[in-house]
Amino acid sequence: MKKSHVIEWDTKDFQQKVMDWYGKNARDLPWRMPRETKKAVKPNPYHVWLSEIMLQQTTVLAVKSYFEKFTHLWPTLADLAHADEDAVMREWAGLGYYARARNLIKCAREVFNHYDGAFPRTEKELLKLPGIGRYTAAAILSIAFHQESVVVDGNIERITSRLFMIGEPLPQSKKTIYQQASIIYDGIGCSASDMPQALMDIGATICTPKSPKCSLCPVCSYCQAFHFSEPEKYPHKASKLKKPSRVGEVYWIETENQQIVVEKRGGNRMLGNMAGLPGTNWDGYGQEKIPDLDWQRAGEITHVFTHFSLKLTIMKGKIRSSMLILNKNQYLVDINNLGDVGFPSLFRKVIHFVSTLKEVE
Ligand code: SF4
Repeated sequence: MKKSHVIEWDTKDFQQKVMDWYGKNARDLPWRMPRETKKAVKPNPYHVWLSEIMLQQTTVLAVKSYFEKFTHLWPTLADLAHADEDAVMREWAGLGYYARARNLIKCAREVFNHYDGAFPRTEKELLKLPGIGRYTAAAILSIAFHQESVVVDGNIERITSRLFMIGEPLPQSKKTIYQQASIIYDGIGCSASDMPQALMDIGATICTPKSPKCSLCPVCSYCQAFHFSEPEKYPHKASKLKKPSRVGEVYWIETENQQIVVEKRGGNRMLGNMAGLPGTNWDGYGQEKIPDLDWQRAGEITHVFTHFSLKLTIMKGKIRSSMLILNKNQYLVDINNLGDVGFPSLFRKVIHFVSTLKEVE
């Protein structure tokens, strides 16, 4: 039987409590305006969009330096729309989920070409843009344009599940969570921009997945899970299925001049258009190794993607430059300059692995 305790819900009072807390405790984040200028300056929709795309599946900590780097290199949407695609992919390297970077460029170009460089202000139009889903559209509408929208990210999902003790497990409960969250935002008016950001901050600093600090929570009087002393039980999660695993080989091909063969990966492969090291497909088969090379098995690394885990065997081979035949996507990089290439994390792991071997050798 579903437990519940009658809490008299007062949306206005709830929102006021959240806003009062936010006024004193908002996090300073590079994509937010400094608090002292907040009232006078309008949010920059380009910054809001860029930060929201970067924050998908990633932490605030990981995103901060990328956001600063991107806004330094491409200060406006027009700059990003005209950026060289390879340069954007290179600067994105390490942030993961590379489809986001490809959509980022497409979206910037579309907004520049079809909307005079200004993000549209309706959900319908935003949803047509590459890389913008329901959540990001709602975040842009509320944070950048002060429109009342139901913004539900992972933090707000957790808070809502606990406030209303939603017993259904994720992901099936998403619809219920969204409906309940709409109560929180109802009639938010001129705080439409601050409300989701305030809830995100409460989720990140107080209503944390483990050991929430309920004694500091501005809305504990509204929280069912707090009343029953079991906040950590929410949100319920369906038991995770084990991720499938894949295997493959990656080739560390080194010349006598200490140069390494690097390639631009094909656009239709995973990590497409990113820099990588040559290797097989990740089904264990594919590209032939260079024959007549004295290949040595250097070791193995494991990398976990969202949908599968990958075990790569690292094969090392030395070759004379004069014997090397590169295909049109391959090129040589000095071993000491590999750090400047902009590899995604998988290949950085391989490089790190090989460099540790070299220290031992
Ligand atoms: S009282 Fe605790 S569980 Fe409830 S919303 Fe606040 S921090 Fe989260």
